[in-house]
Amino acid sequence: MSDTVFKFFPLDPRRKLGDEELSGIREFLVNENGSSIDCESIAVHDYGGIRFIDCGLNFERVRCPKCGSDFDIAIWQDAMNTDYSKENGFELLEAITCTCKFSAKLHALDYQAPCSFASMCLTVSVVSHLWTGWLNHFPWIGVVEARY
Ligand SMILES: [Zn+2]
Repeated sequence: MSDTVFKFFPLDPRRKLGDEELSGIREFLVNENGSSIDCESIAVHDYGGIRFIDCGLNFERVRCPKCGSDFDIAIWQDAMNTDYSKENGFELLEAITCTCKFSAKLHALDYQAPCSFASMCLTVSVVSHLWTGWLNHFPWIGVVEARY
């Protein structure tokens, strides 16, 4: 059996979520999803530095944002390792250059399913689906749906 985890985070990877934002998100989450949410499954993670917000088993590939070609996963993994340090997390300075000559930093690549980078996130484990239409109240917040 797999678990689905929804992750909510500021689209600016260096930005933190304030208490007011967190309670606002929590309120919409619970109000708009009714009984399909177990409030105890909501957790807040402050990573300090920037982390990769992965989509778990939903991960398929990383594509060039310009031409849509798939990047070699080993090349992407190397760039991820170079950019990351245990002390500081990701610096988001590394870029990958596509065969089409377009060069994009790690957080600007086209991840399928969507993944992101953030230094803080709010997670919710759900058994079924989660309605996220209320996110239009928080245009600076992104969401990643991860399956494990
Ligand atoms: Zn390309």
